[in-house]
Parts: sequence; C-alpha cells; structure tokens
Amino acid sequence: MRMVKIGFFEWQSRCQSEHGCLHYLQKLKWPKGFICPQCGHAQAYFIQTQDLYQCTFCQHRTSVKAGTLFHRSHLSLQKWFWAIYFIGSGKGGISAMRLSQLIEVNWRTA
Ligand SMILES: [Zn+2]
Repeated sequence: MRMVKIGFFEWQSRCQSEHGCLHYLQKLKWPKGFICPQCGHAQAYFIQTQDLYQCTFCQHRTSVKAGTLFHRSHLSLQKWFWAIYFIGSGKGGISAMRLSQLIEVNWRTA
C-alpha cells in the first residue's frame, strides 16, 4: 500500500474521525469503487453495523480493513494513521518510545 504524501493539516482533517480514516483507506484500497476480492464484481451492499461490504454476486463479505495491517488490530484507525504520519514525516525515523508518547499507546504497540 502506497501512502500519498500530504500536508499535516490535510492529514489532520482527514483523521479527525474514525470514519474519515476509513473513508481515506477505502479510497486507497478501491480507488475506482468496490471490487470484490473473491470474484471481481463491482457492486456490494454495505452492512453499516459491521463496517462490512457484501458482494451482490457471490455474497463474499469483506471490509476496508481486510488484508491490510489494520486488520485485527485493536488500535483505532486514528492512532494508526497518526503513527504512519509521524513515521513518514520524521527525518531518519522515529523511536518507538517517542511514537508511543505521541499516539498514547504503550511502546510495545508502537
Ligand atoms: Zn464477489
């Protein structure tokens, strides 16, 4: 997955909500709209309560997070996005300790 380099404020506005992050992730994953990972069909029902897409053709269910590093993570997308932002913007990287302070998780997670 390639991250587009964007400015701090744009990033911030996108990541204000979990929904905004999800929307951004969705655009990265399906730039031209939903594609079923199983059959390639381009239409799906959205199951809002579970954040899942169900293919109208083969009934396969998938989520925006499926197959990405966000999948099965207990961290909120917001924290992930900030982590990625800080890692990507720091010259020469960022220490796990510093990152853990910035996004308020323990350093093991970072
Ligand atoms: Zn399908």
